[in-house]
Amino acid sequence: MNINRLKETFFQLVQIDSISKQEGKIISYLKNKLIELGLEVIIDKAGEAIGGESGNLIARFNGGRAELPPLLFAAHVDTVQPGRGINPVEKDGVFYSAGETILGADDKAGVAILLEVIHLLGENAAVYRDVEFVFTVAEELGMLGASNLDYSLLNSRMGFILDGDEKVGTIINHVPYRSQVRIEIKGREAHAGSGIEEGINAIQIAASGINQSPLGLIDPETTVNFGTISGGSASNIVPEKATILGEVRSRDKTKLEARLAEIKENFMATARRAGGEASIVIENTCEGVKVEEGSPVVFLAAQVAGDIGLAPNLAPVMIVSDMNILNKHGIESILLGIGMKQPHSKEEHISLESLTQAVKWVMEIIQLRNGHGSN
Ligand SMILES: [Zn+2]
Repeated sequence: MNINRLKETFFQLVQIDSISKQEGKIISYLKNKLIELGLEVIIDKAGEAIGGESGNLIARFNGGRAELPPLLFAAHVDTVQPGRGINPVEKDGVFYSAGETILGADDKAGVAILLEVIHLLGENAAVYRDVEFVFTVAEELGMLGASNLDYSLLNSRMGFILDGDEKVGTIINHVPYRSQVRIEIKGREAHAGSGIEEGINAIQIAASGINQSPLGLIDPETTVNFGTISGGSASNIVPEKATILGEVRSRDKTKLEARLAEIKENFMATARRAGGEASIVIENTCEGVKVEEGSPVVFLAAQVAGDIGLAPNLAPVMIVSDMNILNKHGIESILLGIGMKQPHSKEEHISLESLTQAVKWVMEIIQLRNGHGSN
């Protein structure tokens, strides 16, 4: 492994602005780099579908051992805000932003790790299985890139996504279902002075509905949140409308459905009592996934982690990611912890050690059953 190159690549990547849907620059950087490294590169049409600058990038490494099942590795190239003009700094082997922005290790760390792996695959004389690399766009907006990925271009049935903020060696095999809810409350408009008794206050209905809903961490695998509320038109008018946007997630589908039904019942009953109406639309349901402990993809990641001195452990999380989407499309995938810390904040950081360990881990996964040492 070339540690200087890895660090340099990471620094270069975080300095290319790539807010979700504005990934044109980074995708063309990757495209040039990967072609230079001898890979076959395709950019799919997801960009047009989602109104972004670029589609997803798919790169194929032909390892020469087509008799072995190919593997897929993925990372997303977009970042959240504030993510423009990132200036990475190093303190004692740990990378931070200069303080005004995120670092963008989520998920440029995953991209940098895969680029180093691709360098190594080309430099080593060994013969490998085929590997497909997928760099997705607009993950942070609800996995729009992965949802619009052209799956007909992929042959792999097993995938590893380098986007976990747990420490290197952690295998995330269990991720939640998530549904967003839009609650529209309708009351009756009236003047706040004359005739106020004719009004039905939609904001008040919204407030008591929220009050009666269990919120926050419901149990270790279920959460409920109301994230925005809007409504009304002026201080002297009884508001006719209020809208609440929220979400429910759970690793257990039955619990997810029960919570959604409860929210619906709650708001409808509250509105009815006040003489108003409530309608609840459930949108953007994302399927949860549990990849079983005995599945080949988990086995592969766990076995080699142990071989190289990492402590492999399985972890469930409450985060949705490209993992939810790839599994839905028949690619049994897990998330690998790569040791990013405090993503989506200005304190985000990652150590060089995590990056190098992750490179080793991925290389070992690619090489396993290739006959260690025999080529
Ligand atoms: Zn991420």
